[in-house]
Amino acid sequence: MDWQNLPGGGNIEDRRGGGLPGGGIAVGGIGGLILALIAMFFGVDPSAVLGGNQAPTPAQTRTAPGEQDIAYQFVDRILASTDRVWSDIFARAGRTYTEPTLVLFSQAVNSACGQASSAVGPFYCPLDQKVYLDTSFFSQMDRQLGGGGDFAYSYVIAHEVGHHVQNELGIADQVTRAQQQARSEAQANALSVRLELQADCFAGVWGNHVADLANLTQEDVREAINTAAAIGDDALQRRGQGYVVPDSFTHGTSEQRVQWFMTGFQSGDPNRCDTFSGQL
Ligand SMILES: [Zn+2]
Repeated sequence: MDWQNLPGGGNIEDRRGGGLPGGGIAVGGIGGLILALIAMFFGVDPSAVLGGNQAPTPAQTRTAPGEQDIAYQFVDRILASTDRVWSDIFARAGRTYTEPTLVLFSQAVNSACGQASSAVGPFYCPLDQKVYLDTSFFSQMDRQLGGGGDFAYSYVIAHEVGHHVQNELGIADQVTRAQQQARSEAQANALSVRLELQADCFAGVWGNHVADLANLTQEDVREAINTAAAIGDDALQRRGQGYVVPDSFTHGTSEQRVQWFMTGFQSGDPNRCDTFSGQL
């Protein structure tokens, strides 16, 4: 993947090395609870969000303002490319796409959805329409998930942007309402799975539209598929507890994630990403 071919210019808020003001903010209140709910909604481990009141010490290796390190440049170009792809797709449908902001942070961050630590992984907060990303997640992916590679990292960013697209289209709200009316936790989880698989499909749509400019290869696509497969709920559960409990799936199985990513990637058409009707 030649990500350097992609022009930059995304809305990046660089809060790395900033830590949290006042040495930490109480998490237990409403903000923390809301983030925990949203985190569950978007499939991150809520216990990592409600991880306590003490903010970790900010990293000492702060990049000077204006200086753009490689992680910044990479994230900026991927984000800007999602801006362009989705702006075009929305425009063709007679709609306007509001570009999201991506917050780079280290260790812990305050969002409109509450405080989060790096342990939650990348997430999207619909309340401030921002994607939150700790770039150390990338090296964590290499170590823990067997993923890695620049296109795999791009896929993770494009998946979070996919949640923003769902928010823009009102899909996220509809799913939240349906979940509130769900008769069981299993039913609510099934809706989360469909939402997550659609974000995977949207990531694939983005991949289709940048494939030529970024010189995507079969190997790049394999990387993304490996990542999708490694972060499927069944793979995570097997790694975590040694067995699989289908009703608690909130992201879909590895096979489903690969399948929906490829549906978006091969078609480039978000209309093919209807994960809500019919069998998955
Ligand atoms: Zn997600």
